[in-house]
Amino acid sequence: MLAMDLRLITQALRHRAELARHDTWTPAQIAALSHGRVETLRWMAVERSRFYAAAHAGAEHAPLAALPLISKSDLMANFDAAVTAPGITHTQVQQRLVELATTRADPGRPWSRRWWVAGTAGTTGEPAVLAWDRSEWAWVLASYARAIAWAGVPSGPGHRLRTAFVSTTVPTHQSAVVGASLRSPLVRTLRLDARAPVDELVPQLGTFRPDVLVGYASVLRLLAQEQSAGRLAIAPVAVMSASEVLSAPSAAMMQTAWGRAPFDVYAATETAGIASSCPRGQRHLYEDLVVAESVDDDGVAVPDGEAGSPLAGTVLFARTVPLIRYVLSDRVTISKHRCGCGLPYRVLQEIGGRAEDTLRHSTGEPLHVEALRSVVESAPITTWRARTDGRTVHVTVVPMGRPFDPTGLTDGLRDRLRELGRRDFDVVVHVAASLERTPTGKAPTLDASAGSSGSAG
Ligand SMILES: [Zn+2]
Repeated sequence: MLAMDLRLITQALRHRAELARHDTWTPAQIAALSHGRVETLRWMAVERSRFYAAAHAGAEHAPLAALPLISKSDLMANFDAAVTAPGITHTQVQQRLVELATTRADPGRPWSRRWWVAGTAGTTGEPAVLAWDRSEWAWVLASYARAIAWAGVPSGPGHRLRTAFVSTTVPTHQSAVVGASLRSPLVRTLRLDARAPVDELVPQLGTFRPDVLVGYASVLRLLAQEQSAGRLAIAPVAVMSASEVLSAPSAAMMQTAWGRAPFDVYAATETAGIASSCPRGQRHLYEDLVVAESVDDDGVAVPDGEAGSPLAGTVLFARTVPLIRYVLSDRVTISKHRCGCGLPYRVLQEIGGRAEDTLRHSTGEPLHVEALRSVVESAPITTWRARTDGRTVHVTVVPMGRPFDPTGLTDGLRDRLRELGRRDFDVVVHVAASLERTPTGKAPTLDASAGSSGSAG
């Protein structure tokens, strides 16, 4: 059935062409564009959103960096005052999401003919709900299309791309709404649940033969292992890793399996794409769509090259629910070096994972679980998880094959902890047959059920 919304697709194509033109601009031109769009957004938000009028009162002429940070819980608690479109309430958006989740309603069709809605998984506290009008939703589509274009995948009329998503099949997840909005005879998609056993995923992917394979880093790692072992034989033009931190060892595994490096897409439901890989493997910020600031705990932007926590995003195209210095829980480092590929946008040096994924020693000293990722993912394991009892870091791994000797990994982790100056922690590696994923199929690296991990937030 042709469910394509022609007005939406036309707008998305126009936006995509505009984004492609920006790719040829200079950094100064991008900065000027961004500055102008921030001004328009701020003016509109103060004018039409009671929440922002109050939050920015007295600071209307202050620089963006002087405005207060807006947390997810702030925004959700004040959703009805924050929206600029009369008549949209948090309750209504929630109801629509429940309807999508419980009926076979098509998430690609706009609610009340006007609004596309999605919700976050709520892995960190209360889920966020968002609504976009046609013009905004077209920007969201264009934003994701840019990641595919930067990966060198030909698209548009004349290219019948087969795209497989191995992530979530939850219909209220933004990626499902994006997929449903684009469903047409031109775009063939297969959506698989990352929670499904690998021996169910492999034959389905083998039959579908995707040109583009999109998935969580942890599930792509698993599929790369299947490909290298000869059980999966697909030849995607591009492999796109999203929603989880992609480590160098996992990326190397994918390169070995498919003969090309994976492209990393950094995105959030609230912002759509924030950054993605260029052909040189550098993640460029989408500075013409989102202003990304790495900020310290007081909301002061840190200089490029310094690790900040967390990331504050200002979404230049958001109008229905303005997002100005909206806090995402990821810790990122923006590089002070430019990439030589010619794109005018700054580069994300590091995505350090969610701020709350912290192991806490009994003395209170925190250790971010990301500090262990590269060591763990260098081992022949599929998925892993860490927890602590306050003195020992317990890392549970699912081995790629049997038998698995944890000695090498234990030694590697001890070396890593010593490197970090953390002689206070001992380490024990446990072996498990499987580890449960979250409802949206992600593989959390922190075992929250252990209860001994301190929460940073
Ligand atoms: Zn580049």
